[in-house]
Amino acid sequence: MTAVERHNYDVVVVGAGGAGLRAAIEARGQGLRTAVICKSLFGKAHTVMAEGGIAASMGNSNPHDNWQTHFRDTLRGGKFLNQWRMAELHAQEAPERVWELETWGALFDRTKDGRIAQRNFGGHEYARLAHVGDRTGLELIRTLQQRIVALQQEDFADAGDFEARLRVFQECTVTRVLKDGERVAGVFGYERESGRFFVIEAPAVVLATGGIGKSFKVTSNSWEYTGDGHALALLAGAPLINMEFVQFHPTGMVWPPSVKGILVTEGVRGDGGVLRNSDGKRFMFDYVPEVFKDKYATSEEEADGWYADPDTHRRPPELLPRDEVARAINSEVKAGRGSPHGGVFLDIASRLPAQEIQRRLPSMHHQFRELADVDITAEPMEVGPTCHYVMGGVDVDPDTAAAGGVPGLFAAGEVAGGMHGSNRLGGNSLSDLLVFGRRAGLHAARYAQALTASQRPAVADAQVDAAAAEALRPFSAEPAEGTDGAAPAAVGAAGGAAGGAAGGAAGGAAGGAGGAVAPPENPYTLHQELQQTMNDLVGIIRKEQEMEEALTRLADLRTRSRRAGVEGHRQFNPGWHLAIDLRNMLLVSECVARAALERTESRGGHTRDDHPQMDRRWRGVNLVCELASPPDQLAAQDPAAGQITLRRRDMPPIRADLLDLFEKDELRKYLTDEELGQ
Ligand code: FAD
Repeated sequence: MTAVERHNYDVVVVGAGGAGLRAAIEARGQGLRTAVICKSLFGKAHTVMAEGGIAASMGNSNPHDNWQTHFRDTLRGGKFLNQWRMAELHAQEAPERVWELETWGALFDRTKDGRIAQRNFGGHEYARLAHVGDRTGLELIRTLQQRIVALQQEDFADAGDFEARLRVFQECTVTRVLKDGERVAGVFGYERESGRFFVIEAPAVVLATGGIGKSFKVTSNSWEYTGDGHALALLAGAPLINMEFVQFHPTGMVWPPSVKGILVTEGVRGDGGVLRNSDGKRFMFDYVPEVFKDKYATSEEEADGWYADPDTHRRPPELLPRDEVARAINSEVKAGRGSPHGGVFLDIASRLPAQEIQRRLPSMHHQFRELADVDITAEPMEVGPTCHYVMGGVDVDPDTAAAGGVPGLFAAGEVAGGMHGSNRLGGNSLSDLLVFGRRAGLHAARYAQALTASQRPAVADAQVDAAAAEALRPFSAEPAEGTDGAAPAAVGAAGGAAGGAAGGAAGGAAGGAGGAVAPPENPYTLHQELQQTMNDLVGIIRKEQEMEEALTRLADLRTRSRRAGVEGHRQFNPGWHLAIDLRNMLLVSECVARAALERTESRGGHTRDDHPQMDRRWRGVNLVCELASPPDQLAAQDPAAGQITLRRRDMPPIRADLLDLFEKDELRKYLTDEELGQ
């Protein structure tokens, strides 16, 4: 039996970004003992990088705004493939969640008369994003962290222990959700610093692990986004939906190469920035799609007038939803009208006074000056699409955030699917985290509360042993027979400190004289090849043959990843961490590729070169990804065979009173005649 540290809680939240922290606050608020686990330091989650703001129809900027308008915008942005009940709850509850943040100490930018200021973003009919300059995520995380500390202080006053009911396990990675029969029983993980294993037993687990961007080469996402929660859900038996929809944000940095992909906030365009090609032309007017024709300006004069008077002008086309803008930039570059480094120009310098740019966009000003030696108050930025967000995720119940088919498992935030349909609007993620983070924490708590002591699940030793063996495999990577040996490719431990509870010899034994074996694989090489494959073959514009090729390459990478080997010990060993993360990235990448191949239309964050039109027959269809064989047999399964099965599922019809919020003419663009008849 593997020796592991064991803890016992009522609710475990995996992830300490906006969704995870909001869930933990709620579960603790219900009086339950709650653990939060995160890969990085507490407070450094991905949410901290969010720039532009939180979408909520508070009506501070325009009194006409309300939840119905926000709901309409969200469905239009998602091309009507959104889980409509989630979109409804989100639009209704977002203002309350923002006001709640303020009562917990968040300091938003203000209007002249002292209300929370709201800014414009693509796809939102009114200025709707509550913000703190272009550092909104930082303020959101700071506030939630502060709230957690306040609750811990209450617990200290009550029980003499800060961690009596809420404990954060930072710099720890969860590698498995443990189960007792069909039900969740806890999680297995390791401390990143020491490599020590631990188990947290709990009847309810909330996944709040964020996205999958690190499977792509050019991305705005940080190192943590390796699709862990998506893979943990699959391995626990919960399905994923909408995995074909990956958002390529139109404006990432393109130069210099070391910073390619880093985000340039949509706030630049929201505050008046315009996109130009190498001829100096403001090209977005040429790319307004049919479904949006009546809502966007057709001349520069009309577009510019909208900033001062949105009620009598139509919106500038630079503020179309992200998928439209990203495709337009891609087309301009392809047509030879790009900027010197393969992007287009984003110009705010000629649109606002320098001082105003520095006030509204301080991070962007700093980012370009430090990283690209560009002064955005004086010259345009070069920008191009970057992999930013995954709309697909765990299939959840809209009201309770419970994951399908696995009692005790919940998911919220970017790891959950459905809310954003085929394309997320900017600002709708931060509000999603708060709305569904709260719901996930609440319902996880209720689920755990309903169990008597004898009904609580137990963690079997065999599961712990299997999880430990799986995590240790990179230290004894099996060389493959049949090829000439070469120098071992296993990577060493960073820091090289001795010790670590198990460690073991690396797979570097391969190679040597006349060996008919292939050396262990270097996890970094595998990761790079995976990123290149996804970027080139399942990227912003997709073709059938290329995606088939991607699936072949993914099968090869899976086979080789079984031999991913590392040297050294479990202490401070990033090569080992990556070898473990590869399992997750390969699983989610296969989901993306399979679903993208199956959907023979273009919609939102899924563009098919060979099926360029949106097809109304696909509107009501979710593609559901599940594990092809039982999770405990995954290791024994032939890696060259697919690990994911795909099925089509009809979405529930949109409720009639919600459909009534739209003009019939607009619905005709999305719904089939049969749906309209009903
Ligand atoms: P995260 O904040 O990423 O948190 C994930 C957590 O899970 C982390 O704590 C991580 O350590 C932990 N974790 C992951 N795997 C494991 C594991 N195996 N074990 C333990 N812990 C694990 N959205 C907006 O609405 N407005 C914006 O202005 C905006 N700007 C953005 C700017 C940038 C640069 C980027 C990249 C995104 C932006 N987004 C924005 C999107 C938004 O920030 C994210 O979608 C959102 O923060 C995701 O939050 P989350 O709570 O789901 O996950």
